[in-house]
Amino acid sequence: MRLTTVTACSSDPRASMTGSQDARFAALFDRLSRSKFRSRFRLHDRERQYVREKGMAVIRSHAEDFVAKRLAPAVIANDGRQTPMRGHPVFLAQHATACCCRGCLYKWHRIPPGRALTQAEQRYVTDVIMAWIERQMRDES
Ligand SMILES: [Zn+2]
Repeated sequence: MRLTTVTACSSDPRASMTGSQDARFAALFDRLSRSKFRSRFRLHDRERQYVREKGMAVIRSHAEDFVAKRLAPAVIANDGRQTPMRGHPVFLAQHATACCCRGCLYKWHRIPPGRALTQAEQRYVTDVIMAWIERQMRDES
């Protein structure tokens, strides 16, 4: 018989550090929803159509590419201005989730600037972006 241990508990103050990604993301999206600036970003018809046409796997590969080229380097000449405010759904997701520049990444996600992002951090940022897009596509009715 296999014993399983319950490790995640929402009342546990450590849950945000040690809990599942779902719990971490729920807490993050809750914080983002309280920001007037972050919460005003939405996927509109044009972007939704683009996501449907490309499919989530392709959108994810675009996100990986943007993160690797525009966020991951240790030094970014135009940091704070590298993410357009419109256009690709991933750009909108980056502003909505504070994954738009290294300044916001530090303020909201505690990932320090001045060094390259690790592979794990790049994956985390991509996961956050994709979670926001999935939520937006789900909210559609
Ligand atoms: Zn920013």
